Amino acid sequence: MKELAFASIKTIREKIQKRELSPREYVDFCIKRFETFDSTILSALEIFKPETFNNIERTEGPLGGIPGLIKDNICQKNRSLTCASKILAGFVSPYDATAVRKLKNGGAIPLGRANCDEFAMGASGETSAFQKTKNPWDQTRVPGGSSSGSAAAVAAGLVPWALGSETGGSVRQPAALCGIVGSKPTYGLVSRYGLVAYGSSLDQIGVCTRTVHDNALVLGIIAGMDDKDSTALPQKGPHDYVSGLTGTIRPGLKIGVVTNALYAEGMGNEIKNRLQDALRKLEELGAELIELTLPAMDYGAAVYFMISRAEAASNLARFDGVRYGYRAPDAENLRDMYELTRGKGFGREVRRRILLGNYVLSAGHADQYYASACAVRRLMRAQFLETFKKVDLLFLPTSPAGAFKFDAFADNPLQMDLQDYFTAPSNLVGMPAVSVPCGFVENNLPVGFQLAGPDCSEALIFQTAYAYEQATEWHAKHPDWLV
Ligand code: GLN
Repeated sequence: MKELAFASIKTIREKIQKRELSPREYVDFCIKRFETFDSTILSALEIFKPETFNNIERTEGPLGGIPGLIKDNICQKNRSLTCASKILAGFVSPYDATAVRKLKNGGAIPLGRANCDEFAMGASGETSAFQKTKNPWDQTRVPGGSSSGSAAAVAAGLVPWALGSETGGSVRQPAALCGIVGSKPTYGLVSRYGLVAYGSSLDQIGVCTRTVHDNALVLGIIAGMDDKDSTALPQKGPHDYVSGLTGTIRPGLKIGVVTNALYAEGMGNEIKNRLQDALRKLEELGAELIELTLPAMDYGAAVYFMISRAEAASNLARFDGVRYGYRAPDAENLRDMYELTRGKGFGREVRRRILLGNYVLSAGHADQYYASACAVRRLMRAQFLETFKKVDLLFLPTSPAGAFKFDAFADNPLQMDLQDYFTAPSNLVGMPAVSVPCGFVENNLPVGFQLAGPDCSEALIFQTAYAYEQATEWHAKHPDWLV
């Protein structure tokens, strides 16, 4: 059974179809791994009781019998939903998010709720009100965030897939720091219905897996239009991203190497070497590499900072103790009740962002900050579109270094925000990007690179990433103590 821990969905599906393994056995196996290892890693906020699954013996469907974890800002019907915040205490989801419903229809078994940064605000997992998920490669370090639990559980071989969410890099960055594959689809590819809003113009559900094939499979299932989300793209799902995984690169493929990102200040030497190795491999596989500068990359973090805070402030206004979750018990009047509920219910980082967001939106400042950030965002998108006339994909770092220690940026929140430097631009321009493991830096810490493409280029990204993955063995490396 041990070899199952890091097996791909593809392998497990084959075993289930050949009846060498029953879904029930595999679910029990995963639950056992949570029992054994998750008291250390702390990736899950809850693992559901097996008797509450209604499709556990089902083997049909592309994910028939395959369990996974759902980030706890995505609704699962009749399950608690906390967004890793105290303010949602006691809230039970009345419906499934569209992505969850599609996964269940495909036979998947959502096994539990993954820990994350509070309301997905963070890049380390440290802002969760409940627990700090550890990086499976080094327990003194963060797994990245905000989809900390999703990435850590997959990297630790507890489940083969997990849903995360992205506003500015929250799937790709933890995926890179945990040594797995993480995708951020085109804005609108996956319905946001049932994803708790953080920055609505940026938010997308994304997927964590150990292999490119598995990522393409799961993303294809959750993709497609949805009447319940007016921003969802009109193409019907599911999407087939798997049959294009040939192991080869599209003839004549041009990859833009974004030099102002690759040689950005603060990039560690070792990570630069790993990225160069990956580039060489892509070239060997037949890609034409074209060096270019993309100034838009350098505005991403600042623009993201304004827009994400502004949208967060308005989205989080709904948590006021009236309709959802926690209500401060000892208020004397309505205003008091709002203040006490929000003051006690939200953690520090969330309160900080609400304050900033209201400031950048306030009369007298909105033009200066919010409107100018929106204008720069439009210019960024124009620049990306222009670049994609010359190249098919872009090659980017995912993070400036490997996983950092807990509390590393406790006194310097701005430094933490710079974690979003390479990832947030894709969210701002609404285009897809996938992070793929590309080796290890000092202290045996995994790192990754991103392939980013124009709107709806997921198939091409996955094809290229798969060819790279097949030619390397990084995806087959796992933390020793978990093997
Ligand atoms: N690190 C970013 C932030 O703190 C990204 C979060 C996200 O993508 N949800 O906002």
